[in-house]
Amino acid sequence: MIFSHSSFSCFEQCPRKFRYRYIDKVKTETEETIETFLGKRVHESLEKIYRDLMLERLRSLEEILQFYNSRWDKNWNDDKIIINGNHGAEERKKIGAKFLSSYYNRHSPFNHSRTIGLEIQVRFRLNGFGIKGFIDRLAIAGDTIEIHDYKTGSYLPALEQLEQDRQLHLYAMAAKKMYPFANVELVWHFLAFDKEIRVKVLEERLQRVCDSTSSLIGKINSEKEFPKKQSKLCAWCEFRNICKDGSALDKFPTSS
Ligand code: SF4
Repeated sequence: MIFSHSSFSCFEQCPRKFRYRYIDKVKTETEETIETFLGKRVHESLEKIYRDLMLERLRSLEEILQFYNSRWDKNWNDDKIIINGNHGAEERKKIGAKFLSSYYNRHSPFNHSRTIGLEIQVRFRLNGFGIKGFIDRLAIAGDTIEIHDYKTGSYLPALEQLEQDRQLHLYAMAAKKMYPFANVELVWHFLAFDKEIRVKVLEERLQRVCDSTSSLIGKINSEKEFPKKQSKLCAWCEFRNICKDGSALDKFPTSS
C-alpha cells in the first residue's frame, strides 16, 4: 500500500473508515460539500495565476476573477453539492472571490519566488514504505525551496501546530531528496484570514515527523480489527449508511 497524508488522517479519524476506503475499496456515491467545491475553484484559479506566469504572462485580477466565476458556473451542480451552514451558494461564491482578490493584491506582481511546479505529485520511501502526496506550488527563492499550501477553511492553526505539521514536513522530505543543496521552507496561505505563515524546515522537526509517521504505519500494518471510532465527523462520512449495519461488502461493489 502507498500511504498519503489523507490516508493517515483517515486512520486517525476512524480505523473502520480507513478499511472501507483503502483496503476494501468500497465504492460509494460521493457527495461534495460546498466547502470542498469552493476550495477546488479557488485552487484552480491560483494555479492559473502561476501557470500563466510560468509562460511569462501576468493575468490581471479581473481576468482571474472571470476565470473563477466561469469555472464555478460550469462545475456547479445543485443536486450533488451539499450546502452546510448559513451561507447560500451565491454568498460562498463571493467569499471565494474575496479570498482570491485579497491574495492577488497581497502578492502581485508575484515576483517573490519563481515557480518550479504546480500540483506536483511527490512519491518517496520512508523506512521502506511508499508515501505520496501533492504539493500545491513548489517555488525557489534564492537558495530556498518553498512548499506552498493553500487553505480555504475557516480554521487558523497556531504556529506550534504548523511546526509539527505532518503533511508539509512529509513533502519537505521529498523536496530535500530532489534538491539536496537547498534549504526548505513551508509556506501556508490561510486565505480566509489573508494570512501567510512560514516555517523553516529543521532536521529535528523532520526526524520527529519521520518517527511518528513510521510508528503510525506500524500501527496500521498491525491492525486487525479496524474498529469504528464514532464522532461528530460520522455525519460527513461517505460510509455512514453501510457502517450502521456493517454490511458494506454485501451492499456495495468493491474494486478488485
Ligand atoms: S460512520 Fe463513523 S464510525 Fe462509521 S466508518 Fe464512518 S467515521 Fe467510522
